[in-house]
Amino acid sequence: MHEYSLAENIIETASKHSGGAKVKKIALVVGEASGVSGETIRLYFGIIAENTLCDGAVIEIETVRPMLRCKACGALFVRKPFSFACECGGEGMPTEIGNEFYIKNIEIEAEQ
Ligand SMILES: [Zn+2]
Repeated sequence: MHEYSLAENIIETASKHSGGAKVKKIALVVGEASGVSGETIRLYFGIIAENTLCDGAVIEIETVRPMLRCKACGALFVRKPFSFACECGGEGMPTEIGNEFYIKNIEIEAEQ
């Protein structure tokens, strides 16, 4: 149910931000390591947004792949499945990249 409350928060934030106008599009950034499913949010959003300013708004999801920082050479690289190894043979440490979850942009309908 984590995604349900996130979807509620997104609608609340977007509705506040819109100042009474209809929300057209919401762009989200979702890291693959954030534990949040963008598709599940999209699903809940569609249900909760009914009869709100966000009704019919498009959810755009930008996925961020987790990156590791090599302890030996300092390189930043994309994590491979089940591996933390860098090309140099060193060990990669998790970084904040891939843990993101935030609203990047909210587009509202222009006033007539
Ligand atoms: Zn390395």
